[in-house]
Parts: sequence; structure tokens; C-alpha cells
Amino acid sequence: MSEGPALAIALDRLSRVRSFEPLFWRIEVEAGVTTATVQRLARENGLLFPPDPGAVEQSQIGGNLATNAGGPHAFKYGVTSRWVTGVEAVIAPGELVRFGGPVRKDAAGYDLRGLLIGSEGTLGIITAAWLRLTPAPAVAIPVIGGYRSIAEGVEAIEAALASNVVPAALEYLQGLCLRYAPPPFLDARDMDFMVISEAESEHERDALLEALGPTAATYDPREVWRWRGGVSLAVRAVKGEKLSEDIAVPLDRLREAIERTLAIGADHGLETTSWGHAGDGNLHSTFLYDPADAGEASRARAAAGELFELARELGGTVSGEHGLGLLKAGQLLGQWSEAAVGAHESIKRALDPKGLFNPGKKVPR
Ligand SMILES: Cc1cc2nc3c(=O)[nH]c(=O)nc-3n(C[C@H](O)[C@H](O)[C@H](O)COP(=O)(O)OP(=O)(O)OC[C@H]3O[C@@H](n4cnc5c(N)ncnc54)[C@H](O)[C@@H]3O)c2cc1C
Repeated sequence: MSEGPALAIALDRLSRVRSFEPLFWRIEVEAGVTTATVQRLARENGLLFPPDPGAVEQSQIGGNLATNAGGPHAFKYGVTSRWVTGVEAVIAPGELVRFGGPVRKDAAGYDLRGLLIGSEGTLGIITAAWLRLTPAPAVAIPVIGGYRSIAEGVEAIEAALASNVVPAALEYLQGLCLRYAPPPFLDARDMDFMVISEAESEHERDALLEALGPTAATYDPREVWRWRGGVSLAVRAVKGEKLSEDIAVPLDRLREAIERTLAIGADHGLETTSWGHAGDGNLHSTFLYDPADAGEASRARAAAGELFELARELGGTVSGEHGLGLLKAGQLLGQWSEAAVGAHESIKRALDPKGLFNPGKKVPR
């Protein structure tokens, strides 16, 4: 990591929609445009921009690309990279370049568009993007089931996967988060586990109602997603802070990952819960702590360390969607082989030889 004076760059004023062509299902925006703005424009024209990280009103398209953000609907529609046909960026030593553009296919060069996406600002600064849109589904019907145990809930998730429909979303919430952020639209007091799926046709709705079992029912999508988007902040408010990680595991290890998250928290004397994108095997494993209690904060960090070990042991990854940032810098070393980490470092050196872009983030050494 380079040391010395640092520069923080705010991109809020790069907020122009450069072009929007609903007929061709595409939009070109500057990096500071918010996710919600793109979603709103698409929706008003009968289209959909599917990536929906929880913080849509604050997050910017540049940040979404930089982290390759996902969200509940990534299960059916894929994460951000799938919706980007071109990236404009400033790369070292200060060149404005464009990888891709409005074309939907481009096999001419290396996929440098894909390389910038998910690079967490370590290879350059994204200034604009060409995004793909798709026709919006005619209906979006959340189908929700409640369960008394993790085992029952994960069985319901597997039944949904076996139902031969692809739900637009397949989410879960476990234990304490149902206590601390109770849904206003149903009585969750007897539930220890909730599964939220979303159907985009009546046929899918019926299949999901059957798969999720006798407790399953349909709800208003606005109510469901408004509440779901606020769960993280409500849980955090309980003790003042939380350490919430985003490990992902192969789907057949989901139950074990959820149960062992609780065991890790209990070993450290921490209130613990998880929720997440079940269909993608992506858990937001969360340890609650009081920020004024140094001991508790340090136990939460220790618990997160064990969680990363667990993710690797289960054949998963330390980050399914947020990236590594500074907090998880170095974690790649435990997850990838020396040669694979070396390839990562070579790319960083080739594109940013002086180590100027987001020093210390993502790349291990
Ligand atoms: C309540 C809540 C819920 C969330 N839910 C989800 C979720 O479901 N799925 C998910 O994937 N994420 C989720 N997130 C994380 C976050 O929303 C995404 O990572 C987000 O899209 C990041 O965008 P941002 O503009 O906030 O980026 P920032 O947080 O500002 O930046 C993220 C990283 O990208 C870099 N960066 C930002 N802009 C650029 C740019 N223009 N060029 C190069 N580098 C850049 C920054 O330096 C930083 O390293 C959630 C966050 C919150 C607060």
C-alpha cells in the first residue's frame, strides 16, 4: 500500500443521464446517478433494471459497478455485471477510456469491462456506464412462508428450487431479525425462519405456494420490499452497531452455514442472526454489539474471522456481494492459491503501477 497524502473523490455531480432509449432497452448514465433513478426511469417506461442492492436511494451506479452489487432479484436476473454493456473510466496515468458501449455483444478484446466491474475502485475510476434494461414482468407477487426451525425453512427453500419455476427472488430471514424487525404485514411471532419468494405469473405463484407449504401466502410487493429493505438498519439499531458479513456458500451447505453462524456468535457471547439471498447461498451473518463496549466489538471481529474460515471450509467465499474493501483485505490469501492471488496482483500492477487507486483495498499485498 502506498503511503502519503490521499485524495477522496466525490462523484455526486456526475449525475447526468446521457441517453435513454426505451425502444432499445438501454440507458447511458454517469457514475453518480443513483440506482433508484435508473430503476424509476426504467419502470416509468415499462422496463426493469434488476440489480437492487438494499441502499438503492443512496447507492450510485459507479458504486454498484465497482462492487458488482447484487440484491434480492440477482437470483433470477444476475448481478450488476450482467446488466452492463460498457464502462467509461479514468485509468492510470490519467486516461479516459471506454470498454464496450451500447453494443449488446462485443468479443473483440479482453473483457476489460468485466475486469473493472467488481474491482472496488482499485483499477480506475468509473465515470459512466451503458446499462441494459429488460421489459418489466406483468406482475410481481411475493409468496412468503414461515417455519419453526432452520431445518424446516431450508427444506422449503429446496422445495422452491425443485418446483421448476425460477422465483424472481428467494430470500430468508432467521431468528432475531424477525424479533427485532417484525414485519408489519404478517404475524411472525411463532416463526424462527421466513422464506420470501417472488412469482412473476399466476402459474409461478401457485407453484411457489405449494412448494413453501401450508403457511405460505401472497403479500403486497411494496409492503414486503419496503420492510425487507429496512431490516438491516433496524437490527443494527438494537445494540447500536453490528458486524454484518456477506459470505456465500454452495447451496447444499446453506443450512450448515446458517446454523454454524449462530454457534460462532454464541461461542463469543454475541447476539447473532442472519438473513440473505437464500437462492444464491448468500448469508448476511450478523453479530450485534455495543460500539461503546470495546470487548464486545473485539469479540464481534473475532467471530467474523471464524465466519470467514467457515465460508472457506464449506467451499464458499468470504464475500458474495460486498467485496473485500479494507476490512477483509488479505482474505483472498486464505481462499485462493498463491498462483491465483499472484495473477490478481499482476493485474493490479499492470493497470495501476504506482498503486494509486484505492490503496490497500481488495488486493492482498
Ligand atoms: C442497507 C443496505 C443494504 C444493502 N444491500 C445490498 C444488497 O442486497 N446487495 C449488494 O450487493 N449490496 C448491498 N449493499 C451494499 C451497497 O448498497 C452496494 O455495495 C452499493 O451498490 C455500493 O454503491 P455505493 O454508491 O454506495 O458505493 P460506495 O459504498 O460509495 O463504494 C463502494 C466501493 O466502490 C468504490 N467506488 C464507488 N464509486 C466508484 C466509481 N465511480 N469508480 C470506481 N470505484 C468506485 C468505492 O471506493 C468503494 O471501494 C447494501 C448496503 C446498505 C447500506
